[in-house]
Amino acid sequence: MNKKFIYLDSASNCKMRKEVINVYIKYLKLNYSNPTSFHYLGRKSKSYIEITREKISNIINCNSSEIFFTSGGSSGNNLIFNIIVNFLNIKYIITSKLEHLSIINNILYIKKKYKIKVFFIKNDKFGNLNLKQLYKILKKLNKKKKKILVSIMYVNNEIGNINNIKKIGLFCKKFNVYFHSDFVQYVGHFKLNVKKLLCDFFTVSGHKFYGPLGIGFIYINKKININILKLKGIIYEIENIYGIVSLYKALKISNKLFLYEKKKITKLKKYCLFLLKKNILNIKFNGLSDNLKKSSFYILNIRLPIKDDLLHIKLDLKGIMISKSSSCNIINNSHVLKNILKKKILENTTSIRISFNIFNNLLDIELFIYELKKIIYNNYLIKIK
Ligand SMILES: *Cc1c(COP(=O)(O)O)cnc(C)c1O
Repeated sequence: MNKKFIYLDSASNCKMRKEVINVYIKYLKLNYSNPTSFHYLGRKSKSYIEITREKISNIINCNSSEIFFTSGGSSGNNLIFNIIVNFLNIKYIITSKLEHLSIINNILYIKKKYKIKVFFIKNDKFGNLNLKQLYKILKKLNKKKKKILVSIMYVNNEIGNINNIKKIGLFCKKFNVYFHSDFVQYVGHFKLNVKKLLCDFFTVSGHKFYGPLGIGFIYINKKININILKLKGIIYEIENIYGIVSLYKALKISNKLFLYEKKKITKLKKYCLFLLKKNILNIKFNGLSDNLKKSSFYILNIRLPIKDDLLHIKLDLKGIMISKSSSCNIINNSHVLKNILKKKILENTTSIRISFNIFNNLLDIELFIYELKKIIYNNYLIKIK
């Protein structure tokens, strides 16, 4: 693989940092024993995990007992919705149609299984959630005295919208309901101080912030007395020590460099926006992704005035890696775009998600725009013929 790729798909998976790879390899060599084994090496392995749990909790300002390691974001969300929701006897879930599929599909599945009523709060064409409606629903349900869970993600993985988690947390506190948030596109890119938020649960994934695949954790507020390992239906996985120490390393570096890296990537996004507007007639942006304040600095979702279902393949052939929408949406077209855009717009345009990372540079952006412009130009030529 010596061909130069232009990788603009870091919201799907990030290349690991060199320092993280080194830690991963170091631990692969250092300790091969099962952390649940009673012997010396097993105990040693367990102690690395516990020390690391403590260090992670120090970075995000929570208690180490509030961190439960999982094998990634989807598995964390699965744990919340399939196991914890049942344990807490939740009867109402309030969420939105713009959540990650690992949440939406889970909710649709458990709805029948646990007899839960689900409310999807509305959104506008920019993906802004209707928080007034959320408040109204909470107020109405409050009288029923049943257990309620609100689940709204922090940063949307397709359109980059940053939701007002503080406000939602305040609503949840006021009505005394549980609040879960998918933090997968937040942690490791923005500074996190758990004490400043009002979340009961959140989900984290390592490979979305330059850590390895297959590791993540969920945060469970200690006020909710849950002994995860004793829950009905739980499948205990041996803790992934290599993943855990690497996730910590990735988090530690991100935490140290986040202001610098945010600035660097924001510059790329700004430059990309500038070149797109300058070079592509009638280009539009999905969600709030062209709003630098209200969307993530590393996600840009563009809508082109042509219909070309092969666009992502044509870019791929040029060595440019982007996503059609979200990488998890391989079969269906994006459920997020379906929920924010009119059918007619979806049918006559092509959208792609570009997500920048610390390894990109200005030249990557220029080459991407150059190839994109050529493809669009060819499309017009075909039409004229
Ligand atoms: C990627 C992603 C997930 C899934 O995380 P994995 O570790 O890949 O399972 C969940 N939620 C959001 C918002 C994501 O972007």
